[in-house]
Amino acid sequence: MKHAPLVDQLINAFTCLPGVGPRSAQRMAYALLDRGRESGRRLGDALHAAMDGVQHCQRCRNYAEAELCPVCDDPRRDASLVCIVATPGDVLAFEQSGEYRGQYFVLMGELSPLDGVGPRELGLDVLEQRLNEGQISELILATGTTVEGEATAHYVLDLAQDAGVGVSRIAQGVPMGGELEFVDGATLAQALRGRRPFDA
Ligand SMILES: [Zn+2]
Repeated sequence: MKHAPLVDQLINAFTCLPGVGPRSAQRMAYALLDRGRESGRRLGDALHAAMDGVQHCQRCRNYAEAELCPVCDDPRRDASLVCIVATPGDVLAFEQSGEYRGQYFVLMGELSPLDGVGPRELGLDVLEQRLNEGQISELILATGTTVEGEATAHYVLDLAQDAGVGVSRIAQGVPMGGELEFVDGATLAQALRGRRPFDA
């Protein structure tokens, strides 16, 4: 016996999510069809709206609903200071710390050539352009300390040095690279204040 085609289509669609295999996808589809029609419709509407309405900010690559995100569009933010983070969740963590008044650049990942993630996928050509505009005086690295995080940090360092821009790194001891959102604001604020020049 096979599922009705629409049920199969729904199950297949769920398998595009990270960590969701055929069995979990099947459970999700059954749950919505059996007990969650209203939630299912809301899920569909939210997916549709986000897929059509969310883009990447042209300056920092964070999610935005206009060409610029609210941070890049805010003239009170210090445009000479740019914090390099791996994910939009990391930006939220910095914003919640209440300590940071500069801007961001969101890589949406870390360098991982074997997985096909190179400089272009991380928008590092866009960062290079921003560095060469001459407005930035300090880059603050808040990427992870994994192999990928280190490779990314060194790539960014090279770009900054070519442009004559100083680089610092937030104090170690907090989990970074997609994990910042689990750090409390006070700890993150302290890591930011304790940042050190990064040059090797
Ligand atoms: Zn932005």
